[in-house]
Amino acid sequence: MKVGIVVILCAFFQIALGQSNPTIQSDALTEGRRITQELCSEAYFGRGYIKSGDSLAAQFLVREFQQRGLKKISDSYLQPFTFDVNTFPGKMEVKLGDKFLKPGTDFLVDPTSGNSSSVLKYKYLSRKDFANPNFWSAAMAEMKEDPTFNAILFDCSNIAKDTLNEIKILSRQLAEIFDVVIVNEEKFTFSVENEQHKHGFFYIQSAVFDRNSIIQTNIESKFKKNHVANNVIAKIPAKGLFKKTIVFSAHYDHLGGMGNSTYFPGGNDNASGTSMLFVLADYFKQNPVDYNLVFIAFAGEEAGLIGSNYYVNHPLFKLKKIKFLLNLDIMGSGEDGVTVVNGTVFKDQFDQLQKINQEQQLLKEIKIRGKAANSDHYWFSEKNVPAFFIYTMGENKHYHDVVDTYEALSFNEYVDIVKLIASFVNSLD
Ligand SMILES: [Zn+2]
Repeated sequence: MKVGIVVILCAFFQIALGQSNPTIQSDALTEGRRITQELCSEAYFGRGYIKSGDSLAAQFLVREFQQRGLKKISDSYLQPFTFDVNTFPGKMEVKLGDKFLKPGTDFLVDPTSGNSSSVLKYKYLSRKDFANPNFWSAAMAEMKEDPTFNAILFDCSNIAKDTLNEIKILSRQLAEIFDVVIVNEEKFTFSVENEQHKHGFFYIQSAVFDRNSIIQTNIESKFKKNHVANNVIAKIPAKGLFKKTIVFSAHYDHLGGMGNSTYFPGGNDNASGTSMLFVLADYFKQNPVDYNLVFIAFAGEEAGLIGSNYYVNHPLFKLKKIKFLLNLDIMGSGEDGVTVVNGTVFKDQFDQLQKINQEQQLLKEIKIRGKAANSDHYWFSEKNVPAFFIYTMGENKHYHDVVDTYEALSFNEYVDIVKLIASFVNSLD
């Protein structure tokens, strides 16, 4: 093919693509980064349950909606609801010999842990004990004989995953009787729980554990009954009298803190998706569509999809008016593309996404996935609202840990995902 023809063809395709390819504001990425970074900052302390992290984050989101001129749906941007949650608002110390272990790195508290403030006299059980089917009754008999035992330590270094999981289940029962320690080399993954055990329960990394050193604890745990959290909701009304609505959702809560100086920033999960709500709002303010657009930043997701569950049972407008819901969770990378949960359920819309992606050459791959109860879209699709949950795949493997930071995010496909979503909404009829 001759160069001249190539130039003419390129020009033609640029024009052809230009009509459907949305123009995203030049500062979209800067704005996405700014909001993500703000949400990851210490001020919001992991957007969870100590230092008012989640409610300060909610106030920040309200200000961002207001500054953009987005409207309330009811009399407030906030939709409050309550749930019980175990928290760690104070001391978080585990000392091995004369060395304080680093919270979140050397040791991790189990989210169901109670208080612990003692020198542990522990029964030590390891791999060779677990091989004996009667190890458990023998250990209990020994501990009963000596009332000075106040803890049990399972050295689970290099054991099979199944055995480890069994020991974790057993440990949750034991934490009602003694302090429990599990030593293991697996990556720390924190979560949020709505129960609290009587005693301390934590994990130590195999690499830092030393059987000959004394373990001393000072762990403060506080069970909060009826913690108040808020979904944050705003809208851009349709330019005409259109009745159908597109909902964009992202959970802004994360895991909060583990003690008063260590927190889980939740950069990828889900400051990244929350910030994208605002970038999408900016786009649709500039490029109005024939739909009402509703933006919901959910709370309580990490505690068990509680905010979205509350919303579908207390919707602010009829759920059947929702044409489509797009839930954004884990938007910080994308080197390997995205996965679409419910892709097999709403196959036509999934094919539409694929088509847009091919035409505009946006993402490396859009992977299809079936139904999954793994984010806030779930309760909506259970109520027959068409919904996708989109998440990025890429180099960033940090998840529910202290290194899921703003700095660790590549934002590789952030703008392309905004383009994909904008085009998808424009393509709905
Ligand atoms: Zn998430």
